[in-house]
Parts: sequence; structure tokens; C-alpha cells
Amino acid sequence: MLTVRGLRKSFGTTRVLESIDLTVGRGRVLALIGPSGSGKTTILRCLNGLENADGGTITITPAEADPASGAAAAGTGTEMTVDFGAAGARATSRLAALRDRSAMVFQNYNLFPHKTVLENVLEGPVVVQRRPKAEVTAEALALLTRVGLADKTDAYPFELSGGQQQRVGIVRALALRPQLLLFDEPTSSLDPELVGDVLRLIKELAIEGWTMVIVTHELEFAREVASEIAFVDGGRIVEHGDPKQVLRDPREERTRQFLHRLL
Ligand code: ADP
Repeated sequence: MLTVRGLRKSFGTTRVLESIDLTVGRGRVLALIGPSGSGKTTILRCLNGLENADGGTITITPAEADPASGAAAAGTGTEMTVDFGAAGARATSRLAALRDRSAMVFQNYNLFPHKTVLENVLEGPVVVQRRPKAEVTAEALALLTRVGLADKTDAYPFELSGGQQQRVGIVRALALRPQLLLFDEPTSSLDPELVGDVLRLIKELAIEGWTMVIVTHELEFAREVASEIAFVDGGRIVEHGDPKQVLRDPREERTRQFLHRLL
């Protein structure tokens, strides 16, 4: 479903991603763990087309093209490879292609403060994807009802708790009908008593079969929900494997030290 090969990224003279290789199968959940500043968010931002990498490829292979699905209608039903090293390829079209297929849930929710909950959810599908407003509205209301926010559709973000804002952030991502869901520390801005609700919702999405990449510090959650864990340090994937093995019996000394500091 997702294949990343040799992804490299520098900011100025600082090399942030050395050469990232990753694969995530359909319906699988990859948790990225690692110290602050190791490059985890940058990996997600490259996958979501928010950063232009310096080299490497990202390939997204959707399920077999289904003529009835929104993906096929939007022209996203075929395999796509973005080659950041290709000469002449236009950066903006590469990034747009990635944004078409993935959706990100941000640490700080990133809702539009001057738009209502419903307007926040409609913006991407209606304005960017140009899908019919009536159809998207029905879908958005169903999603908001599902996450317990049916009575908040006309509220503004500042009127909501952090947990409610993050549920809107998740609904906004789902409404884009992405092939890949990306979560950047989705609970680290939340008060401790609100973390559980958001983690439960993400777990439900995993069970439903969404393909996801999650940056998280919640190791217990990663153990429970992730199909695999990658430990990132210094812009490299140091270790990648089964969650129980990586967390309980890491192969690499650096992973061991990181986990030891957290536990
Ligand atoms: P993590 O998510 O693991 O904490 P990040 O991907 O956010 O790590 O950051 C990796 C490194 O890249 C850090 O040293 C950070 O300071 C640097 N960095 C991230 N974004 C930028 C940027 N826009 N400009 C310059 N440096 C950046």
C-alpha cells in the first residue's frame, strides 16, 4: 500500500532524514516512535505532501480501482509513485498528488478558528476535491454523529474541548476519503482525562481497516494498536518490527536506551 525508498530531507545544511525506507501493507498500522527531533514529523509531512523531500520515492498503491468509489472518481484509483529525485518534475504537482491520497491529523488540531465544525470538515472535500456539497455534508454529519459531535456542528473550535477538537480533526481527515491516514502525536496536546477517547477512536479506525502511520509517545497504545513499530533516531529507521518484539526485546542498543528512558 505504502512504500518509501531512500527518502532524504535537509533544512538548509541540516540533514533531517538520512535515507528512510518503509513499507506499510493495506489495513496495517505503523507506529513511529523515537526521541524528539529525530525526524518523525518530517516523515509524516513528506508523506502528506507538506514538505518537498530532496530525494527518494513514495509509492501509494490503492485497493483495486472501484468505479463506485470516490477514490476512482477523483482519479486516485491507480498506483502512484512520487520521485523526489526526478529532474524536471514540478514540486507542486508532486505534493498535490500526495495530498490527494493522504490525510493528516495534527498534534494541535489545526482547525480553522473562524469556521464552524461543519465548515472545517467540508472545506477539503468541497473546495479542494470539488465533490458535491450535499453529498459531503451528509457524509460529514454522519461522521460527526459517530464521534459524538452531532450537536456541535455549528460550534467554533474555541467552544470545544481539546478532545472534541481532535475528534473534529479526525473527522476532517476521514471526510477526505484518504488511502492513508497520518497521525502526528494526536494526543500529546490533550489533558490526560481526554486522551482515552481519542485513542479509542483511532483504535476503532484501525479495526475498520484504515491504513495508518501514527507518530506517538503512547507506547502502551502502540503495542495494542500498531501492526508494526519503527524506531526513528537521527533521521534513520534504526529498528522496524513487531510491536511486542521492538518494545520488549529490541535488537538495537539505541532502541533499548530510548525505551529505558521512557519506562
Ligand atoms: P520529531 O517529529 O521526531 O520530533 P521533526 O521531524 O519535527 O522531529 O524534526 C526533525 C529535525 O528537523 C529537528 O532538528 C527540527 O528542528 C528540524 N526541523 C523540522 N522542521 C524544520 C523547518 N521547517 N526548518 C528547519 N528545521 C526544521
